[in-house]
Amino acid sequence: MSAKTIQPVPILIGHEWTVPETSTTTPVHNPSTGDVIARTPMCGAEVVDRVVKNAHAAFAEWSETPHIERARVLFRYKMLLEDHFEALAALITREHGKTLVEARGDIRRGIEVVEYACSIPELMKGEVLENIARGIDCEMVKQPLGVCVGICPYNFPALVPMWMYPMAIACGNTFVLKPSEKVPLTGIRLIELLIEAGMPPGVLNVVHGGRECVDALLTHPLVRAISFVGSSPVAKYIYETGIKNGKRVQAAGGAKNYVFIMPDADIDNTVNGLTDAAFGCAGQRCMAGSTAVTIGKAADRLLGPLTERVASIKVGPTDRIPGGQLGAVISPQHRDRVLSLLANSEKEGASLALDGRAIQVPEEPGGFYLGPSIVDQVVPGMEIAREEVFGPVLNVMRFDDFETAIEMASNTAFGNGACIYTQSGKAAREFKHRAKAGMIGINVGVPAPLAYFPFAGWDYSFFGDLHLQGRESVLFFTRHKVTTSRWFSFGEGDVWHKE
Ligand code: NAD
Repeated sequence: MSAKTIQPVPILIGHEWTVPETSTTTPVHNPSTGDVIARTPMCGAEVVDRVVKNAHAAFAEWSETPHIERARVLFRYKMLLEDHFEALAALITREHGKTLVEARGDIRRGIEVVEYACSIPELMKGEVLENIARGIDCEMVKQPLGVCVGICPYNFPALVPMWMYPMAIACGNTFVLKPSEKVPLTGIRLIELLIEAGMPPGVLNVVHGGRECVDALLTHPLVRAISFVGSSPVAKYIYETGIKNGKRVQAAGGAKNYVFIMPDADIDNTVNGLTDAAFGCAGQRCMAGSTAVTIGKAADRLLGPLTERVASIKVGPTDRIPGGQLGAVISPQHRDRVLSLLANSEKEGASLALDGRAIQVPEEPGGFYLGPSIVDQVVPGMEIAREEVFGPVLNVMRFDDFETAIEMASNTAFGNGACIYTQSGKAAREFKHRAKAGMIGINVGVPAPLAYFPFAGWDYSFFGDLHLQGRESVLFFTRHKVTTSRWFSFGEGDVWHKE
């Protein structure tokens, strides 16, 4: 089948998967081969309106469904996800290009959110206080909002949607999922399984598209809340537009995460952790450890073993080449952007301690591959020091002392994650306390918190108040009602009070 004859992927309204009548579609590639494997329909306001209205119609029934019944759907869903685990991982690898091991992590972390959502009766409990004044009681309950929307990036085709919809629907909301137009297949499969698990029609709906579709969701009067994950400029736009239109918004953006390496760091463990943090998922992670900040003599101890280790990473279609460790990036355009950032870093005075630009993968000449690169002598102000690269590139910045380094890291725009490698409790404590980031690692890569903790970027990495995951997501997907009550008498005919 030629790329042109591939049918667009369907949207979901109720339980009906249909291909919308849109004149424009965008190709979905297998980045490992360069082949077009699907097309995403770019839906506009008319389709969005139908989808949102359908989600709204399902709200009355779903929001009144007892919590335990909603949890039962999620329990069945969890079992189905386990049954289809390997097939889902293969699908993620096919449309995203990450390795099968990484794809398994993508779906495993998503399943953990479903497991957490299964405890919804406990999570939804409110608060009661008797006798706030004599004979007066006060109670707070959490109620769902209505139609919630999830707008997703391409880099975690399973995990990011699953940060959003399991908690949203567990809380009693109905949901419209807009997967990334670059990786729509995993989202579709995830929702097919949710239907199989017993989700009633209309509770979860799927729409596809880009800016026009997103704008229609942001401004639709029946949409109550928007979860967004993607790049910072778009996150800021989503937040501002959503708020202006009266929506509740949480918008997670991009990152530039620092990995501090102190002179006393255990080098073997640091090399292992840093290699994974910088080059895992080909650097296409918001939690990528994209800048090594070496203090004092740490650079001299680190650079040799690190370069040797990273140079040995095998690049290729990791579902087929045994031992493949570094997959393709998402598109030729993205590869070109990373190449341009690397070229500019050299012009600005940095030097490539390892240059992955000319990598050849003869097994798949059409794939969008980039070898791993290490850019040394990066200084603040360089483009590569400021911009999120989102590719298999590690910057190295050298500082004489901890103070200057933490000062530099505190004066940057992003604030997602940061970590430190050291054997000093004092240095670790100082770093944990002072690092300007929402998620900290101590001798641990750049650690993404598990489902029961908030995923919490700061500054230009997050717009909004309540973060993704954990109890904060319950607060995000509910509103609170506080009732204060007082009763004056037992009423007519009541026997209790009669002697
Ligand atoms: P992106 O911002 O290009 O796209 C994200 C979503 O926004 C997509 O669904 C896309 O269709 C939509 N979109 C794109 N441009 C838009 C516009 N102008 N108006 C309205 N909607 C628009 O992001 P991406 O390239 O798919 O994903 C990579 C980015 O996501 C990186 O910056 C990465 O750091 C970030 N990310 C952040 C987190 C986090 O938790 N902070 C997690 C994963 C990814």
